Order: sequence, then C-alpha cells, then structure tokens
Amino acid sequence: MKRILTTMTMTALMVSGFATTSMDKVEAATTYKVKIMADGLRVRTGPSTAYKAVGIVNKGKTFNYLGVSGSWTKISYSGSSRYVASKYVKKYKVTTATKASSGFSRPASGPITQGYGAASGVYGYTFHNGIDIGAATGTPVYASAAGKVIKSRYYGAYGNHVMMTHTVNGIAYTTVYAHLNSRSVSAGQTIAKGSKIGTIGATGNAFGAHLHFELHRGSYVYSASSAASSVNPLNYFN
Ligand SMILES: [Zn+2]
Repeated sequence: MKRILTTMTMTALMVSGFATTSMDKVEAATTYKVKIMADGLRVRTGPSTAYKAVGIVNKGKTFNYLGVSGSWTKISYSGSSRYVASKYVKKYKVTTATKASSGFSRPASGPITQGYGAASGVYGYTFHNGIDIGAATGTPVYASAAGKVIKSRYYGAYGNHVMMTHTVNGIAYTTVYAHLNSRSVSAGQTIAKGSKIGTIGATGNAFGAHLHFELHRGSYVYSASSAASSVNPLNYFN
C-alpha cells in the first residue's frame, strides 16, 4: 500500500512539474473546504443549537467552507448556507493550479490547414514558423492580443501583412498576420485585442486564401529552417 501511494505521489509531482514548464504561467487558486470529523453531526440553518437541524452528516464527508460564526462553521450544504459545530470539523486548504490567461486568441476562424513545425521544403522552407488558417477571401482577421502595430505593408512572401508587438504577462511578443487581402490598421497604432486588422487573402507567396499567423517571443526573427524566435501559437490560445 505504501509503495502504491509513493508511486501515485511521484506521478502527481511529475504531472504538475510538466504542467509548470509547458505552460506560459501558472497561477494558484486557493479555496477552503471542511471535513466532518464525527458521525451524526447535525447541520443547522443558523449558528447555534436553537436553529433547526436540516440534515445529519457523517465523518469523512467534505463541504465547501463559507466562513465562521462564533463557534460554528458555515458550509455549503445541498446548495444552501448551513452551519455545523466547529469543534467537529476540520478546515483545510485546497490549492489548484490554473493556467493564467496567456492573452492570445485565435486571429481568424477556420481550420488549421498547415500546422507549426517541420515542413517538406517544397515551398522553400523546411520549418513552418506559424500556422495557416484556411478561410475564404474577405474573412475578418483580428488582433490576437492588445498591442501596437509596427508594420502594415505589402512586402515579399508575406504579401499584405501586419506585424504587431505585445506585452503579455510581462513578456514581449510579436505577431505576424500574412497574405491579407486588405489591411485596416497602420504602423504606430495601438489597438485592442480582437480589433479587426484586415481580411484573409492570398497575397504574396500563397497558393490559396489563408491566414499565415506567426507568434514570436520577443522580437521577430525569421528562419526558413528553424523556429528562430517563433513559438507554436496553438500553445498560447485560450
Ligand atoms: Zn504559413
């Protein structure tokens, strides 16, 4: 039994360790619960024996903790605020790790037609440093996070594209929205998350209407054969 418990603890630690390193940021949410320490404990409508008993709970049962009133503990019982004598219960802390909002959202709706990562080289690159979202020409493209437009122009393989800088959870990022049909923002503008920045198209090096979207940690560094400063956007959307 002890061995099984040790194995379980190890697994839990490994899982939480992995979660911590793979997530951008982990925040802890703390709540309190109450464990009943005696059998036949009465649950009352108020904080004294003068109040009506509406239930009986046994040792080991747990409830959400809502507060204290004198020597009584307020719990959530069948969806209502009820009271049990504090001397027969034990309050304990529950800490849950929650993924902090990364601040990025998907910039357009549509299926992922090419993922992030190693590529065939057929189109001149062996590493696809972004994701492609396939959608009809004219489909709106939105800012993935709040930030500043640093480029809005027609240039090279990206065709019509917009580049933005962001600071999310204290970390600088750069996003690229390429092959646009139209652009509706200009360099120097500060825009809110979800603002329309243009529409999907097939300008530049594109064989059909799609949005090529890149997310870079820090400033924009491109490589046709490695990630350079890019990261997989799918790991940052929420
Ligand atoms: Zn692409």
